[in-house]
Amino acid sequence: MPHRTPLIERYRAHLPVTPQTPRLSLGEGDTPLVRAPALERETGIAEVWLKVEGANPTGSFKDRGMVVAIAKAMEEGAQAVLCASTGNTAASAAAYAARAGLRCAVVLPAGHVALGKLSQAIAFGARVVAVRGSFDDALALSRELATSGEATLVNSVNPYRIEGQKTAAFEICETLGDAPEWLCIPVGNAGNITAYWKGFTEARDAKMAKRRPQMHGFQAAGAAPIVNGEVVADPQTIATAIRIGNPASWNGAVRARDESGGSITAVTDDEILDAYQFLARCEGVFCEPASAAAVAGLRKLARVGTKPRQVVCVLTGNGMKDPDRAIALAPKIAEVDAQLDAVRDAIRVP
Ligand SMILES: *Cc1c(COP(=O)(O)O)cnc(C)c1O
Repeated sequence: MPHRTPLIERYRAHLPVTPQTPRLSLGEGDTPLVRAPALERETGIAEVWLKVEGANPTGSFKDRGMVVAIAKAMEEGAQAVLCASTGNTAASAAAYAARAGLRCAVVLPAGHVALGKLSQAIAFGARVVAVRGSFDDALALSRELATSGEATLVNSVNPYRIEGQKTAAFEICETLGDAPEWLCIPVGNAGNITAYWKGFTEARDAKMAKRRPQMHGFQAAGAAPIVNGEVVADPQTIATAIRIGNPASWNGAVRARDESGGSITAVTDDEILDAYQFLARCEGVFCEPASAAAVAGLRKLARVGTKPRQVVCVLTGNGMKDPDRAIALAPKIAEVDAQLDAVRDAIRVP
């Protein structure tokens, strides 16, 4: 048995796979669900769990959907794939395309892609172009290019992406024995919250779970179109993965919120960065800023209103994706002579 059963294999009964679908895999899925004792103490919630999606092969949940989208593109005879991306979709598409022997092109918003993600897309051999504009501009252009048939679009408007991503909900139900009371999740283009809701609904129907969770989504305050109820023309946030002003799966997010009795609210960049540092320093879990929006939101909801007994926060991407952010928050590193006293002085707690 391989270390990890390929996602496509493990959940084949729930996925649009046929005997002709290639068994593509880089070891995606089956990510850790980790307790968060410091968050439990702080919020007074009995059980807080972190779904650590940064443990996927390219460091984000995007791999779950991408493996299905690329496998289906192969099955359908595609030669090339294309996506717009804030970074993680590009990294994932580039990796699975490399594995599958397909050409890959990625369209990025210039100046707003974290360094780790950019380095991945380049290393995996994708054709990279940065447009002077937002992610929303990049997606509109990519959709137009894809309609001419030159390449298969692998953004989350591709339904195979949502299908693959819903498997995270199955895993949570398997591990906990039921769906949690709440799911907290960052919302950007809104594909993931849509996918989780589909997954939890199918899990209940398949008797993997008795209930469905309340879905609580969080947008960055400067990029909160669903919260405000209108498109944001110039979205701004340090959480680049959710710097999106016109989500493609807007309706899916609203449905998840309303059918589950949940919420979609905004968190500020300061709240996001505070949660980002708390997770790293108090839980030992390093996620990227966008992921910390889920925890920033949980902390906010826990301060008002009724508390649930059990929550899962989805940590969508790995902290190493965005090394510049961690370094920018830290004090300058002391550089000293290679002498015992100098080092001792430098590391002494004040
Ligand atoms: C893509 C992404 C998101 C947002 O997910 P959507 O499906 O676009 O809502 C959040 N966090 C990270 C790390 C991502 O890569």
